[in-house]
Amino acid sequence: MKIRKLYKSEKTVISFEIFPPDCEEKFSRLNNEITVLSSYTPAFFSLTCGASGKKNSYSKNILERLNTHVKTDIMPHFTCISCSKSEIDSRIEFLKSQKIENILALRGDFPENTNEICKEFCHANELVEYLKTKTDFSIAVAGYPEGHIESPSIKKDIENLKKKIDAGADAIFTQMFFINNKFFSYLENLENAGINVPVIAGIMPVISAKQLDKMTQLARITVPSALKDKIQTHAADKNYIKNLGIEFSTAQCKELLENKIKGLHFFTLNRAYSTSKILDNIL
Ligand code: FAD
Repeated sequence: MKIRKLYKSEKTVISFEIFPPDCEEKFSRLNNEITVLSSYTPAFFSLTCGASGKKNSYSKNILERLNTHVKTDIMPHFTCISCSKSEIDSRIEFLKSQKIENILALRGDFPENTNEICKEFCHANELVEYLKTKTDFSIAVAGYPEGHIESPSIKKDIENLKKKIDAGADAIFTQMFFINNKFFSYLENLENAGINVPVIAGIMPVISAKQLDKMTQLARITVPSALKDKIQTHAADKNYIKNLGIEFSTAQCKELLENKIKGLHFFTLNRAYSTSKILDNIL
């Protein structure tokens, strides 16, 4: 179902992010994880497309194979910073051939090798605009409750987000956040800026100290000090951290549900365990 229709539902929509595995062994493990996650009847899986703006031909192949095996809709992520217009055109044709209905349109992070930057599409709003002229995809875009890392202020970032919505985006998927009040005040700021599309909360269950460190270095994400302290004290105890992550995200999601948010999108990191435990606790 197209997301522009999906989020009209009164009920909070559940969806999962997965990423393309880089070998057959991981692909087959992912299939098992997807089987577990599918039992929670998500509305769709979103499939990332190569971090750091790097091109990833394997993800095309993965999409084709998942699309055959997974019964749930897939929303591919679609980055543009390293792509020429003709590469974008051929990806569009491929996605149409796969009967894809929804995509998450992104600029992507800058590649390490700046020669890979194409400059044909410099920002996600340009990609949204282009996709609207060429396709009937329902288009989602990224939003940052604490501001994008390159942005001088949340206000400026929201002005730029509005360009994506004005270009025709149907929904906003947020960066992960750990402090609900930051999300609630973001919703208020968006409304004040005249942005009225559904905003879907990005939830990342913490599974290890290392993973959290990596994420918070790449983006503007505040970790509450009580959570940070517990993680630092017990960093070596993997089970403790995993259970702490489940407990924290459960409480976070409960409060979001009480506030009738439109959607919860779980960054699963291709692992079903934590996300499924959280869903067992909240559904
Ligand atoms: P943009 O919307 O273009 O914004 C980037 C920066 O430029 C912001 O600071 C913004 O304020 C500013 N800006 C935006 N438009 C303009 C404009 N017209 N003029 C001037 N300034 C402007 N990355 C991947 O590589 N692969 C993925 O699969 C992936 N999935 C993601 C999923 C989610 C839910 C989120 C939140 C992020 C994801 N990312 C992914 C990361 C994302 O690619 C990076 O955060 C990237 O740096 C910005 O992408 P964007 O689409 O938000 O860019």
